[in-house]
Amino acid sequence: MKAAEQVLSLATRAVHSGEPERRPGAPITTPVYHSSMFLTGELGRYDDIHYIRSSNMPSHTAVARKLADLEGAEAGLVTASGMAAIVPSLLVALGRGGHLIAQSTLYGGTHSFVTHDLPDFGLSSTFIDATNPAGWESALRKETKAVYVEALTNPRLEVADLPGIARFAKAHGLVSIIDSTFATPVNLRPIELGFDLVIHSATKYLNGHSDLVAGCVVGRSALIEQVRHKLIHLGGNADPNACFLLQRGVKTLALRMAAQNEGALQVARWLERHPKVAKVHYPGLPSHPQHERAKGLFQGFGGMMSFELEADASQADAFLRRLRLVVHTVSLGGVETLATRPAATSHASLSAEERAKAGIPDGLIRLSVGIEAPADVIADLEQALAGA
Ligand SMILES: *Cc1c(COP(=O)(O)O)cnc(C)c1O
Repeated sequence: MKAAEQVLSLATRAVHSGEPERRPGAPITTPVYHSSMFLTGELGRYDDIHYIRSSNMPSHTAVARKLADLEGAEAGLVTASGMAAIVPSLLVALGRGGHLIAQSTLYGGTHSFVTHDLPDFGLSSTFIDATNPAGWESALRKETKAVYVEALTNPRLEVADLPGIARFAKAHGLVSIIDSTFATPVNLRPIELGFDLVIHSATKYLNGHSDLVAGCVVGRSALIEQVRHKLIHLGGNADPNACFLLQRGVKTLALRMAAQNEGALQVARWLERHPKVAKVHYPGLPSHPQHERAKGLFQGFGGMMSFELEADASQADAFLRRLRLVVHTVSLGGVETLATRPAATSHASLSAEERAKAGIPDGLIRLSVGIEAPADVIADLEQALAGA
């Protein structure tokens, strides 16, 4: 088993890594211990105390090991939510008085934390266009400590110059952090590109079944230990039941992503030909502005896309109400195809002008393609568009 470990594919490791040691009588899945603490053994270091908030129970370490393995990272930490991975990672990377360079189109919760909460901690930030290196240097300050980007942006699915960002961080001694939620380790492995910390909202693709909230961060052991210690103070540990469900969900990640990569490509190609669709944003389409970059970076283009209807807000909402199979809701990454209107949900707090500037018209629909037969998803979109 040991010698062959290096050559096992990601699909195989998603099933087997982090699972209990094989010995007669051992369980084949990691049990959930409904116990807040474990008996103290050798009274040694603080870290020898096993307490749920310390994220060092078997449920935590098993799933963290699996996720670190899939990303090719030394260590991992599972957290209560995606935000519970993002916040301590930023606080650790920035330290005291640090300055952050961040991609301008971040996930709403992250954008809000960077804009509204970092200053309360005496920390500052500058937003950049991460798709284009011109302007990165001028964002640098002597107190700059970290750079933060996302694998694909929401809802326009822009692809940043990710290898460029990792090199820029190395050249200036910055901690590089990427939120890879939209890509998953099936489609992108940021550690191989040189990123220091890779974060996921495991609520999305990693779990994949729209039935829990969790997050993770992976990277070098020393850095992950610092993040874990920050998380202990923030109280953002994952619940062992969530760990169990997440560990089960991840086992089928490769299968689900293969179906979602393929299904989304079919749906995007179909939508692009539809007369009532003005524009489709999907990195797998040659019409996408960073299609060539996406081809070089990603193993698959993922399940996320957005498309523009020639419609005002109420007409676009009527389209969403006509959907029968596709679920009209926020969030993403589940086995079921989900649709939402970003102007009314994720980007509702922006003014109409800010949304126009960000390229988020009222008629923009975001789709998270699930694992249903693509023909059924297309048929549902077709009947809903027919009424438009
Ligand atoms: C959902 C999401 C988050 C936040 O994750 P939670 O699990 O809801 O805390 C962060 N980043 C991205 C890209 C997301 O989609």
